[in-house]
Amino acid sequence: MKSVVALLPPAFALGAQAYNIALYPRQSQSASGAGGASGSAAANPPASSFSFTLAATNPTAVPLASIISNAPSQATHALSTTFAPGTNPTVVSNAPALPNPSLLAPSNYPALDKVVPTDSPEVQQWIQQVNSSGITIPNIAVNQPGGCPANLEAAADADKSRCWWSCTGCVAPTDIVDCPEKLTWGLTYDDGPSLYTPDLLSFLEEKNLKSTFFVVGSRVISFPAILQAEYMSGHQIAVHTWSHPSLTTLTNEQIIGELGWSKKVIKDVLGVTPTHFRPPFGDIDNRVRAIAKAMDLTPVIWTRISPQATFDTDDFDLHSGATTASHVLQNWNFIEGNATSSSFNTGFILLEHDLFQESVDIATGYILPDALAHNPSFKIEPVIQCINQPLNNAYLELNDNSTNPPPVSASSVGIGSATPSSSGSGNTGAALSLTPAVGPMLALAVTLLAGTSLLLL
Ligand SMILES: [Zn+2]
Repeated sequence: MKSVVALLPPAFALGAQAYNIALYPRQSQSASGAGGASGSAAANPPASSFSFTLAATNPTAVPLASIISNAPSQATHALSTTFAPGTNPTVVSNAPALPNPSLLAPSNYPALDKVVPTDSPEVQQWIQQVNSSGITIPNIAVNQPGGCPANLEAAADADKSRCWWSCTGCVAPTDIVDCPEKLTWGLTYDDGPSLYTPDLLSFLEEKNLKSTFFVVGSRVISFPAILQAEYMSGHQIAVHTWSHPSLTTLTNEQIIGELGWSKKVIKDVLGVTPTHFRPPFGDIDNRVRAIAKAMDLTPVIWTRISPQATFDTDDFDLHSGATTASHVLQNWNFIEGNATSSSFNTGFILLEHDLFQESVDIATGYILPDALAHNPSFKIEPVIQCINQPLNNAYLELNDNSTNPPPVSASSVGIGSATPSSSGSGNTGAALSLTPAVGPMLALAVTLLAGTSLLLL
């Protein structure tokens, strides 16, 4: 039996079926770059208001009381294994030998954590390639920062021709938002590599777990050896843009540059190019999808069963203090409850991060140990494998083109054939039964907890 936060109105208590309620404050906030009260520490109830149960924890876990914003930095750990240039990967077949990352010159790449300029020869070449791909880019206006509330015209169209996921959860046929088999968890970590990624890698190695890492190009330049360790260990490497912008707020050329530079730096470090990407903040519409398709990238988002029930632990907000460890673990309990509920028929993809020490501490100390002890068992694997494809298909050069053609040559995939989430992805069973009855109450709960109104969708 999962516990439900005491502040919620009675109608929200749905027995064993509980619902994650935290995502959009951070998403809107991050997208706008604005502060505001949403998701702030002051708006959160005291930590004691959150409750959770865990089947197991890591005996060496950092105490929950120490997983807080501004905690002293822990000693970081070296990678357990590094790989010499020229080493041949064994986890994928027919892969080229590992490049030498010491030959990378940061001056040959865009500035760190800034949207890439579009006048470079590289971006100009990628623009030409997109233009000659045969893919039509829909004429959808660039969004203003701030998500749905700041783009009312786009929001009104968000479930139609735009299919704007971060606004309404609209899922297109090409989007990967879950794993087909129930109790299968497509494990993902975003925004690295970072100083704390080796801690996560060491735990994953100890438990023989593999993940998908959606990496930020800027940070690949800073930590190429970590990226190589992930790849060589059998984790899936995928694109998470160069500088982590909200892609619907960028021009076509900027989107091409953000995806292109990320693909390039990963290829330069690994020798292979990812076939999958995750839009930062889940911010994708049919314009972004078409550009990604023209660049041979398939979108992976995360599971969402209603506007307020998304598979996001909100671990990212631990670092800033916008949430607490107890709240994150309650969110995790809600997600577990959803994933195992009889009305939820697929596996799931969860949003987590390896950028900050707090996120890694909660993953290795609590979430993963609990998941490993869960009964019934979760099957935990990278997204490419949870969708029943071989790891080779995660990379353009190793992909089996005869059975799995890259998007740009897959004529059967129709950009513009947007499908609202309520009928699109096959993962919405719980949402269909939940939304009509308690949607307004859920919305009220979100408003109460986040200190902001999110019902502008
Ligand atoms: Zn991210």
